[in-house]
Formats: sequence, C-alpha cells, structure tokens
Amino acid sequence: VRLPAGCCGKARCCGTMREPLPYAAVLLACVAAFHVPDAHGFLPRMPGPGVAVTCRHHARSLASGPLFSTAEDDPTEKALDAMTAFTNRYTKITGTYLCAEASVTAVVVKGLAEHKVSLGAPLCPCRYYEDKEAEAKAGYWNCPCVPMRERHECHCMLFLTEDNDFAGKEQVIDAQEVRRLSGTM
Ligand code: SF4
Repeated sequence: VRLPAGCCGKARCCGTMREPLPYAAVLLACVAAFHVPDAHGFLPRMPGPGVAVTCRHHARSLASGPLFSTAEDDPTEKALDAMTAFTNRYTKITGTYLCAEASVTAVVVKGLAEHKVSLGAPLCPCRYYEDKEAEAKAGYWNCPCVPMRERHECHCMLFLTEDNDFAGKEQVIDAQEVRRLSGTM
C-alpha cells in the first residue's frame, strides 16, 4: 500500500500503511491513536489510486472534491468552534482561568459542543442525567450553569478561580488545540 502524497508518515495510524496490513489492523491502530471510529466511515469513498487507507487528518489535507465534508458544513465542528469562543469569552468576563492541564479544557469543550448539537443546548458534560433532554430544557445545568453563574463554581474545571490549585495561567484556548487534545482530529 502506498502512502498518500503529503502524508507525514509519523502519525501512528498512517505509519501502519507502510506495511500491507489488512484494513482491520489499520483501523485498530487509528482508534488506538484516539481517532474516532466514524472518521473511517468514508473509507470506501477514498479517491485516487494509492490512497487506499488514511486517517481523517490526512483525508482533510488530501480532500479535493465534494465527497468530503469540511469544518464549515459539519454541525459538530461549528459547535466546537462556538463553544471554544464562548469559553474564551467567559473566562475574561468572570476573571477565571482554564485548567493547567489543557486536555481537561479540551474534553469539556468537546462535550459541551456535542450536547449543543444533540440536545440543542450546551448541557454540562460532567454529570449523569436520567433524562438529558429534560435537563437541557430545564436549563439549570446548561453552561454556564447556575452554580457557575451564582458562585463561580465549575465542577468540570473549565472555569477556575485564580486561587484554585488546578488553575493555569491561560484564559484562552485555540479551537485546533481543543480538537487535537480531545482526539477529534
Ligand atoms: Fe459549564 Fe457549569 Fe459544567 Fe462548568 S460545571 S462546564 S460552568 S455547566
């Protein structure tokens, strides 16, 4: 199997293409590298000779036709951009800081974005709900939730007061960083 043009050959998923491994093995390697499984749903539609198997990251860079969706028309991507922008604004409004461990921020933002798409509201992703739809309608746990609005309490550690042991020095995070750290690219 030939590597697609432009492939860095360093990513674990694409690196496996150097060997003529069966698709299942390549897919497992990709999943192990935190690529979401649905990223490979397009596999039968890959264009061109020699581009038999690739990961979503490289598919994006190789995409040239309407077979591929882009960030502009993907609701989850749009929501992720929106929730990142919201997070960056809200830290400044409230004088709070992001977690020193950026992957915590990334996973929470991703969870909020997923709820925004599936429920129509950014329901807090750090809680268990018997009925998510009902909770989203009730609004108490829609981000920023009532405890955050009233007392600056964020149990997800998305917004941390300066004196919190887990608070970092940053008030903003880049959407691409969110994607990278949350395993969505
Ligand atoms: Fe948002 Fe509240 Fe969840 Fe923090 S605890 S992420 S403020 S909903």
